Amino acid sequence: MDKLQLIPYSNEVRMLPGSIPLSKIGRRSFFSTIDRNTGNPESYYLSISENGIKIVAGGEAGRYYAAQTLKQISETYPDRLPFLEIRDKPAFPYRGFMLDSVRHMTPIEDIKKLIDAAALLKLNKFHWHLTDDQGWRIEIDSYPLLNEVASYRNGSHFGKVHDDRIYGGYYTKREMREIADYCADRHIDVIPEIDMPGHMVAAIAAYPEISCRGEEIPVETRQGIFPDILCAGNPKTLQMIFDILDEVIRIFPCKYIHIGGDEAPKKRWKECRHCQELIRELGLETEEELQGWFMNRVAEFLQSRGRKAITWNESLNSGLLNKDIIVQMWMDRKKLSVDFANSGGNIIVSPFYHYYLDYPYGMTPLNKTYKFDPILKGLDNQGAGNVAGVETPVWTEHIRDFNQLCFMAFPRAAAVAEAGWTFEENRDVDDFNVRLQALIPRLRSLGIKPAPEKDWNPNPFRRLIQTIRFFLSITTKEMIKGYD
Ligand SMILES: [Zn+2]
Repeated sequence: MDKLQLIPYSNEVRMLPGSIPLSKIGRRSFFSTIDRNTGNPESYYLSISENGIKIVAGGEAGRYYAAQTLKQISETYPDRLPFLEIRDKPAFPYRGFMLDSVRHMTPIEDIKKLIDAAALLKLNKFHWHLTDDQGWRIEIDSYPLLNEVASYRNGSHFGKVHDDRIYGGYYTKREMREIADYCADRHIDVIPEIDMPGHMVAAIAAYPEISCRGEEIPVETRQGIFPDILCAGNPKTLQMIFDILDEVIRIFPCKYIHIGGDEAPKKRWKECRHCQELIRELGLETEEELQGWFMNRVAEFLQSRGRKAITWNESLNSGLLNKDIIVQMWMDRKKLSVDFANSGGNIIVSPFYHYYLDYPYGMTPLNKTYKFDPILKGLDNQGAGNVAGVETPVWTEHIRDFNQLCFMAFPRAAAVAEAGWTFEENRDVDDFNVRLQALIPRLRSLGIKPAPEKDWNPNPFRRLIQTIRFFLSITTKEMIKGYD
């Protein structure tokens, strides 16, 4: 075997002649310490020699990653460990995966399996999409209708998915704390997302007064982009958001909170007396600027609580987003995220066409996901340094059970994990495909069933068929785009 079967691959590996039987390694020949002077708590040094195993890590996280690496090595060398030296650290500090628990909920026990897989792959951020038009999935005490009304919808009509039954529920605070603890044990931060000012139909169904029209509307049963969004001109709206965030912060101890900011049509704000008055009062020109102001206000509130905000890239349309908000790029034809990074802002790279795991393999084959370079075109030296990292989302409109979720997410999530950890010069798609063979049984042992190899990189004919089928399946009369 010429190369270690590691995923993600370690950045500096030196194989040395010789090996040591596993039976010879006991407590006395296992040395592990932390040296904080290395400056990177995720970095580690691992050596296997005739003296045994030695780990020097930059922090607890580094020690954990050294153990993950060692576990992967010992699985491919079950009897004798080869002599080697590894000096390793991640390419990016932010290596995330996102789960949409709104369109369809994943049971807590299955979420834990995903977290185990993420830990194996040295991912360190779990972005949890907990609110959207089709449901409210987070227990909130101060606004009980969010759970009594907003958590349930009257059916599900997402493209080819049709179901007239009531669907819903929410994660209790106890369950979410359990997930936060489970992640913390694996050096993963949970980043809850409360999506605003758009994608708020469920909350508006419970509390119509936070929308511009104040009219009663049902929790959405369709997928798409909807006109009713939060009223920025009503001071009650921000107060409610702050109250909710105060509860969210008490559940999740992590530094980041995602505040959405994507796909918010401005039709209601254009017609709303309160929103228009606020625009005049603030001396703003457009409704997009009002969104920038709104996101900044929420981010400043989080900052006053010692937290940091992340938004999707559409919030950059305002041209006045605070530089300390982290921007997650998913679809950005105007390259505003690149400009943001070049002028000092931090970005997370999640291009939908490469990293969205709910897309069929025919549209996004494994190798296409793997080959994407997170250093986006147009970034200058400073901008490249401002790429915080990568994240791979799974949206669940069309994913109704855990096996289907695993089929879509694995092994493509492993390709993104390697882009997050392994430096570009050390990445190689053919080599990755070879190393995957060892990863599959590891995933299976965690309760994850990845897609079979024949599905990873379909031929051009199958790609075409799958792409056509995908578009047919999402474009039905129930799909709403834009405005009513
Ligand atoms: Zn309004």
